[in-house]
Amino acid sequence: MKDILWKSVLGEIELTVSRASFITWFKNTELLTNKDGLLVVGVPTVFVKNQLERKFNDLIIDTLKKNGVEPTKVDYKIHTKGKSTLHKRSSEETVMVVAPQQTDTKPKSSSSVRHSYRQGLNEKYTFDNFIVGSGNELAYAACQAIASAPGTRYNPLFLYGGVGIGKTHLIQAVGNAILSNDPKAHVVYISSEQFVQEFLDAIRYKKNTDFAGFYRSADVLIVDDMQFIAGKEKTQEEFFHTFNALHQANKQIIISSDKPPKDIPTLEERLRSRFNWGMSIDMQIPDFETRCAIVQTKSTTHGITLEPSVVEYLATHVQTNIRELEGALNQLLAFCEMRGLQPELQIAKSLLGSSKVRPKHINAKQIVERTAKHYHVSMEDIMGPKRDKDIVVPRQIAMYILRSELHLSFPKIARELGRKDHTTAIHSVEKIAKESTLDADLRTAISEIKDRLYA
Ligand code: ADP
Ligand code: MG
Repeated sequence: MKDILWKSVLGEIELTVSRASFITWFKNTELLTNKDGLLVVGVPTVFVKNQLERKFNDLIIDTLKKNGVEPTKVDYKIHTKGKSTLHKRSSEETVMVVAPQQTDTKPKSSSSVRHSYRQGLNEKYTFDNFIVGSGNELAYAACQAIASAPGTRYNPLFLYGGVGIGKTHLIQAVGNAILSNDPKAHVVYISSEQFVQEFLDAIRYKKNTDFAGFYRSADVLIVDDMQFIAGKEKTQEEFFHTFNALHQANKQIIISSDKPPKDIPTLEERLRSRFNWGMSIDMQIPDFETRCAIVQTKSTTHGITLEPSVVEYLATHVQTNIRELEGALNQLLAFCEMRGLQPELQIAKSLLGSSKVRPKHINAKQIVERTAKHYHVSMEDIMGPKRDKDIVVPRQIAMYILRSELHLSFPKIARELGRKDHTTAIHSVEKIAKESTLDADLRTAISEIKDRLYA
């Protein structure tokens, strides 16, 4: 449950922060404990700890709230991984900040794929767990061709397309495949944002030559999100020289971007023409069937088999972005897991439908009014001090709907019902959440209230 909750939180954060920030600060974190509102997040290093505390604490708390957890405090604890089975693989990942002087590192023992030299690659991205369909099949084929004979064809490979459609997954899969064929290969994966940052640091600390040497010694250089190099003249120049050196030596270069070279503003002409030397492939969002297959596969990895209707609902509901599709799936699974429910269509609809598809905006007052009306209770009573059962229950239901539909904080929910103490709200929401899993009448009542609200 912790794992799935944290996965859902990370999924949302991934949509909010840049790729580089996500990888650097969030990727290797895990939720260690979640008890009475005190959450402890395990982090790999003190740098990550500081950064999360200073810069991202609010974002983390907000995102937890959106996922139904009301933390009183979040602590960050340095945690050496390896004990947790779920995240075992990522412990092997090299920290993204490159030390240019770094040379071969010995493979660590527990990794499933042994890499003597890994840089920025995440083993979770493989060809095996990439679902091929219309929209990505050409890119997939080119990547496989490269993996089997790097540097010989499609050099450079330039993949472009919108966010969350699998570019990073594919280009990382190439790197991982090359490394598992040849553990000594120098595969370097970096986002262009990081490339820029490191280049600037190298100049500042007068380590230009280390920097250049490091990248020019790569057998395979994978640069993700090339668009971020736009306008960075000095870095482009450096990259141009790196590109030439590698290309001349028949080393493989793979680039991704959100747009084709011709549409990246202020991309130096000579780089643009280099990028056109090889192969450019436009990646599109996979079609409906492929999206269904993705949902099915991902839910199976969580050990859950979804009803076809749920799979189809998700694939229809999210049409633009596989990352969001995964996010929606994780949200559904986390919601059901926390409440001990089977992920069924009705739940998927109420959970995902409320936030995205439901056209109408409703406010807190309407929810309270609608609920009171449904149970023939006056506004005065529902907002007032009376403790009779036939008033208390509608009051609790109103709180529950405020939470599930508007994602209000507990103090806010309490206030909407004229209460000072927010623990009543927590208690009520939990109680209704629990009872609604057992009581079909209650579920029907809630969905009737909601239907009327959105009608
Ligand atoms: P991009 O780099 O294009 O923004 P990503 O490669 O980060 O997108 O993909 C977003 C998420 O969707 C990742 O978790 C990735 O594993 C998943 N994903 C995308 N396409 C597929 C696919 N065809 N099969 C399985 N997972 C996919
Ligand atoms: Mg990407």
